[in-house]
Amino acid sequence: MVQMNNSEPASSLATRLIAKYNQPVPRYTSYPTALKFCIVDDTASRDALCRETDDHAPLSLYFHLPFCARLCWFCGCTKIISTQSGLADTYLDYLELEVDLVRPGLGADRTVAQLHFGGGTPNFLTPEQIQRLSQIIHARFEFDPDAEISVEIDPRTLTEDKVQAFRALGVNRASMGVQDVNPAVQKAIHRIQPSDMNRRAIDWLRQSGIQNFNIDLIYGLPRQTPESFADTLDEVLSYDPDRFALFSYAHVPWSKPAQKILEQAELPSPEAKIAMHAQSVERLKQAGYAHIGMDHFTKADDSLAVAQRSKTLQRNFQGYSLFKDAEICGFGISAISQSPKSYRQNFKDLETYYAFLDAGKRPVDRGYLLSNDDRIRRQVIMRLMCDMELDFREMGRALDIDFDSYFASERNELNRLSRDGLITLDDNRLVVTDLGRILIRPIAAVFDRYYGKDQAKYSKAL
Ligand code: SF4
Repeated sequence: MVQMNNSEPASSLATRLIAKYNQPVPRYTSYPTALKFCIVDDTASRDALCRETDDHAPLSLYFHLPFCARLCWFCGCTKIISTQSGLADTYLDYLELEVDLVRPGLGADRTVAQLHFGGGTPNFLTPEQIQRLSQIIHARFEFDPDAEISVEIDPRTLTEDKVQAFRALGVNRASMGVQDVNPAVQKAIHRIQPSDMNRRAIDWLRQSGIQNFNIDLIYGLPRQTPESFADTLDEVLSYDPDRFALFSYAHVPWSKPAQKILEQAELPSPEAKIAMHAQSVERLKQAGYAHIGMDHFTKADDSLAVAQRSKTLQRNFQGYSLFKDAEICGFGISAISQSPKSYRQNFKDLETYYAFLDAGKRPVDRGYLLSNDDRIRRQVIMRLMCDMELDFREMGRALDIDFDSYFASERNELNRLSRDGLITLDDNRLVVTDLGRILIRPIAAVFDRYYGKDQAKYSKAL
């Protein structure tokens, strides 16, 4: 426990506590995390995993479009760097094969509530390729009238034709990777993206009818300082987005070797990261944005803010979401699918992904069947990450357990977090404090049965 010293300034206490809890820890976009997924090496197990589907749940589709024209050195995504647009034609052929393999098992009358295109860079595709992708999807799936269809956009390779092709596909939300507008930071991360380019992309989105857009920022990148990041915030606030994602840079060079390059430039100290985070939260709140979950901010009337207030916010591989109990079906390399009882992940390399589809087999590399205990812990961790509080009685009723006895061995850890001021705790309730919010990942880890075994492979909490 960190000893409280009444004369110690709050900022210094916060810094000490954050230093203490700033350990490698999962982001909990799933529980168990993807590191627990097991290799699936026979067709029977693969088919069994794929049969784990809830016949009534709405569908949430994810398409991974992995190609990028240039490598950003901070990137943690599964991507393929190339300038050959023809590669995407072949990739679309295989996406079509995969959809044809998966679609019949999903039930003819289930509709799509959500569709997301992630990457990579979805707008690596040409307008014609986007149209073809649209045909592949719309010929096989029916959509709810108010379905959310979203795409991740890189302004550097965006054109007006591409925006119009995405709009014709039905896209009604875009999330734009900005990271930081400071030229020195952009040079250090190998991603030159002048503000004019961002503004031009936003104009195209709005003119096409895609009115909803998010801006994704990252703090903790080389050459960033609290002062420079304040300028970035001022600039991106002037874009007037509906939502912001404010991600802490995840430095995992053991799995993303290009990130080693960033160590040659100056990575900000943990204290500077804390300052950037604190001032960003303050600035975004002043501008009228609500803090959602761990790292999102939305306008007060945004659907995510409404869901947070009504405690129906969800968390999954795409971050925060509205779609309770939706079955996530992922297509493309590295894509993860999630049903109430299982996870499965596709191969991450093109060759194996293509080879399996050529053989008429689902390209599933890894998977996981959840035990009852996993499902209980998944729900507790998700509610904590979404609501920043837990009502033990309510949670016990929802999960059909006696919460106190089920989690008796976690109580000591919770008491320790309470003494350190990360949560307030009584017999019925845990509430995350403002200080605890930045450390929500280590707080959630208390309920993670597997945390510790793979600890070194995660990025730090901050
Ligand atoms: S950050 Fe985005 S555009 Fe840059 S390499 Fe990664 S996936 Fe591609």
